[in-house]
Amino acid sequence: MTECENLKSCQWVKEYSGSNEVYVEYFVKNYCKGSMQERCVRKKVKAEFGEIPLNMQPNGKPMRGTDESGWKPEISDFLKKI
Ligand code: SF4
Repeated sequence: MTECENLKSCQWVKEYSGSNEVYVEYFVKNYCKGSMQERCVRKKVKAEFGEIPLNMQPNGKPMRGTDESGWKPEISDFLKKI
């Protein structure tokens, strides 16, 4: 399995990988380096809006301990449709 083409530049990975959160490593293993990378919601949001909230996980949910309050309403609406 090849890695996601965005792995080296991905802001989410830069921010949260190595943070000792087991579930972050789960996402990196299964999305960024695994078979779920084409389902990454960050990629879909980037393609649609050209930007991605930093705290959005690959599954489209906010990081634990954070929320969607800083996300543009249109991004939240988009997430409900995909
Ligand atoms: S979070 Fe998504 S865009 Fe970023 S490296 Fe992982 S699969 Fe790629």
